[in-house]
Amino acid sequence: ARKIGVLTSGGDAPGMNAAVRAVVRYGLSKGCDVYAVYEGYQGLVDGGKCIRKMDWKSVRGWLSIGGTTIGTARCMPFKTREGRLQAAENLVKEGISSLIVCGGDGSLTGADVFRSEWGGLIDELKQNERITPEEADTYQHLTIVGLVGSIDNDMSSTDITIGAITSLHRICESVDSINTTALSHSRAFVIEVMGRHCGWLALMAGIATGADFVFIPERPPAGDDWETAMCEVAHRHREMGKRKTVIIVAEGAIDRSLNPIKAKHIKNILTDRLGLDTRVTTLGHTQRGGSPAAFDRILATTQGVEAVDAVLRSSPDTPSPLIGISSNKVTSGPLMKAVELTHEVAKAISEKNFARAMELRDPQFAE
Ligand code: ADP
Repeated sequence: ARKIGVLTSGGDAPGMNAAVRAVVRYGLSKGCDVYAVYEGYQGLVDGGKCIRKMDWKSVRGWLSIGGTTIGTARCMPFKTREGRLQAAENLVKEGISSLIVCGGDGSLTGADVFRSEWGGLIDELKQNERITPEEADTYQHLTIVGLVGSIDNDMSSTDITIGAITSLHRICESVDSINTTALSHSRAFVIEVMGRHCGWLALMAGIATGADFVFIPERPPAGDDWETAMCEVAHRHREMGKRKTVIIVAEGAIDRSLNPIKAKHIKNILTDRLGLDTRVTTLGHTQRGGSPAAFDRILATTQGVEAVDAVLRSSPDTPSPLIGISSNKVTSGPLMKAVELTHEVAKAISEKNFARAMELRDPQFAE
């Protein structure tokens, strides 16, 4: 039977468990043996107890559990060739030559690096007699399939990443809670949300909660004096009788000179210029936690099924696929192309080409 390994890596995201469950159960139904690699790439490097054979019951009840039960880690050794050599040896010893990786762009880049140098790793292991010549012959190729697990929705070539919808919903609930107290005291709140270098969570939360102003990395506020522009908007809304002011700021928000825009600075501006009683709330890790929304369970399940199918139809000379979703259809496209496009967003921002950054992220919101 074909042996498939599945691991979760990088930041945790609600729905990762549903992805692992789908890979395990669909893999079994297709006659494969499925192994969970615990603790992300660290588990590949450590081997042994970290690589566990899964059966139908191993993943019972996982649909509704947030985070990732098989664990995740940031693993420095896997960024070195020595670490990946050890990982390759452990996989060969377990007889696993297909890996489904659910993580962010860092994790998926690592997976592709591993696959592209696999042949060299196998040669080296054979020369050092860490694996037998027969093993080297049997495990000439490594199959990699990527699933995007990230609350940030920061990957190109896919409409939405596993975990983003749940996180967005959690943020909306928090902002709703803040709204009631803000209204009571007629206060202003500056709410910092996650997203790393991506403004999706902040922008969508702003739309979903009716925020007064949103700061995101891809489209910094126009003009030299965004402070005045923001105060004008907040003041206008107050003039119309609004009893609260809510500003949502992405953790990676920047101005047009690429300097960070910090919640505390926004608070000081609102306090000093408008005389508003202003508080800062950093939502923090509650944004990652809790049970996945129905959409994330479904997304992870349908993509997990597609990932197994992608393993079964893979061949040594096709590029590693990334499972995505586009216009409500599960897709499979070249993984490294998606990663490169994602890096292009960062490049566009660093070159202050914000229109391009927005276009790459989501043409719907481009200028
Ligand atoms: P994310 O997957 O959420 O973007 P990271 O960027 O922290 O998170 O990556 C997670 C892990 O993936 C890293 O700790 C490392 O083990 C591995 N990784 C990331 N980039 C590479 C790379 N270029 N080569 C090898 N491994 C990598």
